[in-house]
Amino acid sequence: MPDKKYDAVIVGGGHHATIIACYLQRAGLKTAMFERWHEMGGGACGEELPLPGFIQNVCAHFTRFYTNPAYSDFNLRDYGLVYLFPENNEAWIYPDGNYIMGKTIFPVVDPLTGRSEFSQAAADYTIKEIAKINQDDANTVEQIIQNFKNKWKKAFGLYRYTGPGEWGNGPDPLEALFDDPKSGLDRDLCMGTVGEIATRMFKSPEMQTFYMRAMQTSNGLMPCDRPGPYWHVHALGLILSMDAAAIVTGGTHSITHALLRAFQQYGGEFFVLNEVKKVLVDNNKAYGIELKNGDRVLADIVVSDLSVELTLEAVGKEWTPDELWEKAQKLKVKPPTLEDTGYERTQLMWGNIALMEAPVYPMNPELGMVPRLYFGKADPDYFLSGRYQKERWEKGIADQLYLLVAPDVQWDKTRAPAGRFAALVEEFTCPWRNFSEREWLRMKREIETRMVKEWAKYAPNVTMDNFISAWIATPDDVVNRNLCMPQGGWGALDANYECLGRMRPFPEISGYRMPVKNYYLCSSAAHSAHGIGRGSSYNCYKVIAQDLGLKYRPWEERGW
Ligand SMILES: Cc1cc2nc3c(=O)[nH]c(=O)nc-3n(C[C@H](O)[C@H](O)[C@H](O)COP(=O)(O)OP(=O)(O)OC[C@H]3O[C@@H](n4cnc5c(N)ncnc54)[C@H](O)[C@@H]3O)c2cc1C
Repeated sequence: MPDKKYDAVIVGGGHHATIIACYLQRAGLKTAMFERWHEMGGGACGEELPLPGFIQNVCAHFTRFYTNPAYSDFNLRDYGLVYLFPENNEAWIYPDGNYIMGKTIFPVVDPLTGRSEFSQAAADYTIKEIAKINQDDANTVEQIIQNFKNKWKKAFGLYRYTGPGEWGNGPDPLEALFDDPKSGLDRDLCMGTVGEIATRMFKSPEMQTFYMRAMQTSNGLMPCDRPGPYWHVHALGLILSMDAAAIVTGGTHSITHALLRAFQQYGGEFFVLNEVKKVLVDNNKAYGIELKNGDRVLADIVVSDLSVELTLEAVGKEWTPDELWEKAQKLKVKPPTLEDTGYERTQLMWGNIALMEAPVYPMNPELGMVPRLYFGKADPDYFLSGRYQKERWEKGIADQLYLLVAPDVQWDKTRAPAGRFAALVEEFTCPWRNFSEREWLRMKREIETRMVKEWAKYAPNVTMDNFISAWIATPDDVVNRNLCMPQGGWGALDANYECLGRMRPFPEISGYRMPVKNYYLCSSAAHSAHGIGRGSSYNCYKVIAQDLGLKYRPWEERGW
């Protein structure tokens, strides 16, 4: 059979592949994606779990993809991507029944474009809630909200959707705020560890714990890690309910479905159950791929949606500079201490718990309509002392749980059979290699019961009588599904400051161009890191458009 030929081929059909594929095809390049799994989307996949009739986001659940340029560039709402925007946002309930509940401070005013506007009423509400706990913290929060409104929100979006640029080209949009005396972004504070920032910024144990716990949800960072300005602003945005805690109708997989519909409409092709064996290289130039079944597919450019070590392994050692190869291979070695990073930070136990009826929170029934609801003891020392991390590393499940519950079904009735309830429940664990498959299976059962018991402390009707079923994914489930998550975490690399911006994945290849010509990296192993809707694929497309002189450049009109 003669070799197939495309203008562009993409290795992997994960989340970022489906974004960049739309841009490349829209720009006129005949594009094809090759995915090893039986369906597209990678970490944006969904399954019918824990029982038929329920839909579970087995990987990404919390998404704000409506902020990604692709959402409006391809009119994805027209292709079935419908976001819902609850008014309530993040809340935390403490064991004594006290709670903090936030309302979205920048609600979406145009669901077609995702445009949001500042709401003073929501800001006042959130500040008042924090004042119930501590007036000093409420004052701090009031100032942070002003900074967000004036400078941070814009710089944050720019940072995410522009590449890190060339070395020597000046600060990135967030670092530039350090030089602006009116920005309120304190460089010395931002350069601290998560623990240092939490304790310097907030006075109350409640807010300190909230910041440190949220830092794990968004990026897996431990109290000893340095988040840098990006994750600092991001975590504050979460705990203070800045952007809408949006809900995707039908689950995260709807994002993939909409992108694929748009891609096909432009004439693109994708192939599942087609594992790529290697990238074909000649004379230091990529010219196509070879599939595991031996077929070859030729292309002018090859884009990788894989982790960094798989991206380099696909071209092989002979085409990769020695130092780079060594660095990538080191990611596979178990780091010696708890402080080391690589693939050590983002492992979860999470999944759906299905109930006969929705939980009722006696302290305020409105808490049942909060899309991101945390509970746990205000205990900064548990985080700061390293006990929370150490217990997880040694036992898989920590002694004290810090659950996050997301009852999307309250808004999206497609996720459960009529009259039934399900919520995603999240807790953290350790890298996959710390335990055997048998031990992960044991923990999968244990965590179910512990989650239900913990939940019942805040919503007493969450009893075993109310319980229908649960399916909690462990790192073992993630590893079996996706080769790009080698330790069963959600990140295609950790996200501490040393692994961001121009340092991601490594300083010499942070510009989306790989060591051989015509070979690019679009996955979340590149800036702006992991997560649904982040900027790596969009930024990678910008670089390709520059290299190939493509005319489709929607950022020129929009400015980013
Ligand atoms: C348990 C879990 C929870 C998460 N929670 C969230 C969340 O709440 N919010 C959020 O924003 N993000 C979350 N994420 C992260 C998010 O899913 C990822 O950041 C995102 O999917 C990364 O996209 P990507 O395109 O870089 O890689 P992926 O989506 O992982 O895609 C890579 C694709 O490449 C395929 N592949 C690998 N090797 C080959 C090969 N040789 N040939 C062909 N195909 C290959 C894989 O099968 C996969 O489909 C979570 C992830 C996990 C695992």
